[in-house]
Amino acid sequence: MTVDPSPVDPRAFARNLDLVRDRIVGAGGDPERISVLAVTKGFGIDAPRAALAAGLFDLGENYAQELIEKATALAGEAPAPAWHFIGGLQSNKVRLLVDHVACWQSVDRASLVRELAKRAPGATIHIQVNATAEPQKSGCPPDEVGDLVARATEAGLVVDGLMTIGVDGDDAATARAFDSVAAMVADLGLHHASMGMSADLELAVRAGSTMVRLGTALFGTRPRRSDAAVRD
Ligand SMILES: *Cc1c(COP(=O)(O)O)cnc(C)c1O
Repeated sequence: MTVDPSPVDPRAFARNLDLVRDRIVGAGGDPERISVLAVTKGFGIDAPRAALAAGLFDLGENYAQELIEKATALAGEAPAPAWHFIGGLQSNKVRLLVDHVACWQSVDRASLVRELAKRAPGATIHIQVNATAEPQKSGCPPDEVGDLVARATEAGLVVDGLMTIGVDGDDAATARAFDSVAAMVADLGLHHASMGMSADLELAVRAGSTMVRLGTALFGTRPRRSDAAVRD
């Protein structure tokens, strides 16, 4: 991995985490009941270390190579993180990630369910929902989510929740998307509604998010896409 141009200071991280908890409370949420997934993509190895030192064990990465490099670098250290894969997932990456990933949050199609059932039997997943019907966006269409959840469960995977991404710059559309995904989580009897990023945390908490995925709010501005990610 290349040198991180903006190292993460553990004290700055602790302050940022306090601010995040204030924002959750300000939006009417209970920080004890909403998991914070620390998204370390683009940051160096000191980012996951800062999160772990502050008691955040759930870490998120978008790119296979970058997740594997960080997981490998931390191997053997305590406490151990639970890595969540939150990026676009290609079937051929599953095999490489299997030893490292605790939760696959971006499962959005039957072919991925089949590959995971084969390579990672019993794995914990979220179904990613494209709740805003933007054609370029990944995610399962809302009317196919029930089927995909059933398929995954039949294949022996543990569907722990739904994940969705808001619409950049459109609070009204984002709030509608979060409301509809929270309703789907309730209808399907699932555990987690993984929604809310640094820019739309409050909208997600108001809609009933149980897991917010935060990068910049915790670590500051993301340096850039790492070389590892470009190779992905
Ligand atoms: C990058 C990313 C995040 C974190 O984004 P921030 O704006 O830095 O909080 C959360 N979820 C997904 C799916 C991401 O790709």
